[in-house]
Amino acid sequence: MTVARTEDNPIRVGVLGARGRMGAEVCRAVEAAEDMEIVAMVDTGDWMFDLADAGAEVVVDFTHPDVVLDNIRFCVDHDIRCVVGTSGFDLAKLDTVRQWLEPKPELGVLVAPNFALGAVLAMRFAQMAARYYASAEIVELHHDRKADAPSGTATHTARLITAARAEAGVDPKPDATTSEVEGARGARLGDVRVHSVRLPGLVAHQEVLFGGDGETLSIRHDSFDRKGFMPGVLLGVRSILNRPGLVVGLESLLDV
Ligand code: NAD
Repeated sequence: MTVARTEDNPIRVGVLGARGRMGAEVCRAVEAAEDMEIVAMVDTGDWMFDLADAGAEVVVDFTHPDVVLDNIRFCVDHDIRCVVGTSGFDLAKLDTVRQWLEPKPELGVLVAPNFALGAVLAMRFAQMAARYYASAEIVELHHDRKADAPSGTATHTARLITAARAEAGVDPKPDATTSEVEGARGARLGDVRVHSVRLPGLVAHQEVLFGGDGETLSIRHDSFDRKGFMPGVLLGVRSILNRPGLVVGLESLLDV
């Protein structure tokens, strides 16, 4: 039986990357949530074992693509569930995490490329539209301190579009480009070209463009403040307590 978590019985949460932009926002959101308490805040140079020593039940990771797999390994080894927002996950990395979880049937890890509800809905809408359009491109725009390109959200969206088209038997339509300056047509992810823009002043934005004869469809989402990710992060923390195995994408926890 699942015991409801309340102020008297809060979920014990640790944060990895606690002094980063997202991590600091997560610490504030967890502190404000009545059914959670923050038990460890860990950043570069801190003692990772604080997470285990403090009895964290769930660790939220917003660190760096180069270290996130080591962090998950540490948590799995210490029987701690994870909610991971750090980007840079390809299918091979997801498979690695899945394998680590196999001998731990009670343990769950959520990896979500985007915790903003609007972004999750936009991805779902793009997935729904994909079968009706042979041409699709993604433009993702982020602040200039982002380490990886394309974004995890763009990679995930391209994957969803490619799979939806394959399932519907729709072949991508080649364009007429025969010569290009390298990169001008973006990176190819599955069937989809992805263009990454990096500028100070931006937070996180994405536009999915579909083209057909005589029409286009644009699906756009804009994150203006990191607060917009927090309801999704808190939902992830609450849900992963009762969701064993690897869960990919916030949409797996929503009825969309
Ligand atoms: P940031 O650079 O502001 O913060 C990262 C923090 O992690 C830093 O404080 C850094 O010192 C710390 N860190 C690095 N290695 C560490 C380690 N081994 N152990 C503990 N802490 C470590 O970056 P940010 O803007 O907060 O973004 C972090 C990650 O989250 C990026 O990969 C970014 O793309 C991703 N992100 C995801 C979402 C989402 O919704 N999934 C939203 C925004 C950002």
